[in-house]
Order: sequence, then structure tokens, then C-alpha cells
Amino acid sequence: MLSSMSEEQESIHAAVRRFAEAEIAPVSEALWEKELFPYEIWRKVCELGFTGLPYPEAYGGGGGSWLSYVIVLEELSRVDCAVANSVMANSTVASLINNFGTPAQKEQYLRPILDGRKIGAIALTEPNAGSDAAAIQTRAVEARGQWVVNGSKIFISNSGTDVTGPVVIAAITGKRPDGRNEISNFILPHGTPGFTYGRKLKKIGWRASSAWELFFADCALPRENLLGERGAGLRQTLATINTGRILIGALALGILQGSLDRSTAYVKERKAFGKVLASFQALQFKLADMATHAHAARLMLYHAAELKDQGKPFDQEASMAKLFATERAMEAAHQAIQIHGGYGIMSEYPVSRAFGDAKVLEIVEGTSEIQRMIISRRLLA
Ligand SMILES: Cc1cc2nc3c(=O)[nH]c(=O)nc-3n(C[C@H](O)[C@H](O)[C@H](O)COP(=O)(O)OP(=O)(O)OC[C@H]3O[C@@H](n4cnc5c(N)ncnc54)[C@H](O)[C@@H]3O)c2cc1C
Repeated sequence: MLSSMSEEQESIHAAVRRFAEAEIAPVSEALWEKELFPYEIWRKVCELGFTGLPYPEAYGGGGGSWLSYVIVLEELSRVDCAVANSVMANSTVASLINNFGTPAQKEQYLRPILDGRKIGAIALTEPNAGSDAAAIQTRAVEARGQWVVNGSKIFISNSGTDVTGPVVIAAITGKRPDGRNEISNFILPHGTPGFTYGRKLKKIGWRASSAWELFFADCALPRENLLGERGAGLRQTLATINTGRILIGALALGILQGSLDRSTAYVKERKAFGKVLASFQALQFKLADMATHAHAARLMLYHAAELKDQGKPFDQEASMAKLFATERAMEAAHQAIQIHGGYGIMSEYPVSRAFGDAKVLEIVEGTSEIQRMIISRRLLA
């Protein structure tokens, strides 16, 4: 917590921490072990209003700030990053529909993913196009008043669950005058004929977050399922991912803080050579580094979120905060296991489960290499 937090933010912080400790911590290991989507938690997180916090009240959101939302994700991730990711990935879809959707689309698709009846998925990545998002091959062709989609997607969070609702997919819809592909976004309702699943993907992290391969074979969508302007798809998604970088950074901050809290408690209890581990300077220094990195990451993330709340440019700050927080979280997860010794390797220990989660964060929403490219490109522009 920071001294600059408002009373409201302090109470959100306390409420989410209570909720995460009481409702998520007891089931976290089972979710990890069985790779189960957390249906019950999703329902409760929505009921408590955490999911829709920064979205308009007119569509069932909370009308709150992005800074408050960062606090929510940080606290959820402190206990279980995979559970926090389901909330985070849903919010990417909510932002796309909120920012670019028509009032009818918002009523039909935004409201149910804010109140928890459904969960949203964004499907940009394909087997041959991740960092290079413009290289997607999925196509949508306009025919007889419909869009007919063919192609496939991979690694899509929140897909394949019993509550999966709108999937926002990116598809090539033509050629631009400069010869590059024109890419548009579409809202694909779950259950659309021609939309099928391939494998449920097995992961080393985010195991409780559902991710599947998606296939589209002559999948017909009504014309009105185009999201925003034709050809604006990549622009819409990249703009939304800038906010997503702050949110992934918040998940990383949760791992940093969780690693620190668990390690601090453990070194006070565990003994070696007749002393508690806390008396060894080699381990004290690991805690000092974690605390310093958590504090710095928090300042960077809160600053980026505040800039967004104030309507100021925040892209560079978001990339820097994402890069810093995720790499420091990976380091903290690694050191937390080291501090726990052999127990840290056992999956019943939360520090063990956080290790794979931290690795995912260095890859999604733009890898560390891509963040460095973005940051340096802006410096040199
Ligand atoms: C668990 C999980 C959940 C995900 N959820 C979603 C989701 O919900 N929706 C979605 O659309 N996607 C999702 N993704 C996909 C994710 O966004 C991509 O994995 C990510 O963008 C990287 O793309 P890639 O995997 O194709 O790697 P690649 O782009 O093939 O990159 C491989 C390596 O090359 C590096 N590299 C690439 N280009 C450059 C360059 N120009 N210079 C230097 N290095 C470079 C990368 O940094 C990386 O280290 C998810 C991924 C995972 C693992």
C-alpha cells in the first residue's frame, strides 16, 4: 500500500485481500492440480463488483478508476495469478467492446461479461503469428450480408469454459492501399456454427486459466458483429493491449508481493544449524531485493494507471512498468523457491505454483523483447 492511496482504494485493497485469502487460497492448489477454471470464484468476483470496476455503470460496471482496478488484480494475483488472469483477460474484451462497440453491442455483449453471466476472450494470436500480430492468416469475407470467417487461433485465455461468451477475433478483411493486410475485429458469440475447439492446452503456468486452440470453418457472422470500423482491428487491439500491459504488470506485482510475504513468514519459522533462516544474511538480502523491487514496480504501475485515469499518454510508462514488474516477479518467484528449499519445489506450496505463472507474464501482452523494442523505438524517434 502507498500513503497516497485514497480511503476508497484502501478499502478495495482490504476487501480484495480478505476475499482472496478466504475464497481463493483454500482452493488454489486443487485448481492448479486439476487445471480447473474457477467457476465459483468467477461468480463471486463478479458479484462483488471487482470485475467491472473501471467500466461504465450504464452497462453494469463500477465507474471506478484504473488505479483501483490495478489494486484488485494485484491482490487477486498475490494469492493466485491464474485466477487473476481470467479477470484480466475478460477486461481486455470489455475494453474493446466498451471503447469501440455500438450501444447494442455493449448491451448484448459487455453487460454479461461485467455481471459474470459470461466471460470474454480475445483471440488475436495464431499458430504462426504472435509478436508479429499483423501476420495473422484468419480471413473474413463479406458475402450475402454476412462475414464468413476461416482460420484458427491459439493460446486463447478464457476460451472453452461453460461461461465463455463473446470471443473478439481479429481477421484479415482485405488489402490496404499500401499493400498491407486490412485487419478487422469481430465479436464471435460462443456456439456460432463453424466455430470449434481443438486441444485444451496444458501449461506450466496459469493452469487454472482455460486456454484452447480455436478453429473457424465457414463460420458465418451477421454484419453487425464487426467491431468498430472495418480495417481498424489491429489499431483497436494494440491500443487496448497498452492498458493490458499495466494489468499484466499488476499480476506481476501480486507475484512479487506474494513471494515476499510467503518468504518472510517462512524464514521466521524454519530452522537450520540451530537458528531460524531469518538470521542468515544471504536470505535477508533476498527479502530486501524483493521488497525493493515490489515497491518500485508498484510506483511504476500506479503511475501508469494514474496517467490513464487522467486521460494523459501512458504507453511508454505502461511498457516500462510491464517489463520491470514481470522480470522482477520472475526473479522473486525464483528466489522464493530458493528460500523455501525443497519444500519450494512441491506444488502444495504457493511459491512453487507462482513460478510458472511468473514466466507466463514475461511472454503475454508483448514479450520482454517486444517491450524493449517499443521503449527504445520511442526513445530514438
Ligand atoms: C498462457 C498464455 C495465454 C495467452 N492468452 C492469449 C489470449 O488470450 N489471446 C491472444 O490473442 N493471445 C494469447 N496468448 C499469446 C501471447 O500473446 C503470445 O504467446 C505472445 O504474444 C508471443 O507470441 P508467440 O508465442 O507467437 O512468440 P513469438 O512471437 O514467436 O516469439 C518467440 C520469441 O521471439 C522473440 N521475438 C519475436 N520477434 C522479435 C523481434 N522482432 N525482436 C526480438 N525478439 C523477437 C519473442 O520475444 C520471443 O522471445 C497467450 C499466451 C500464453 C502463453
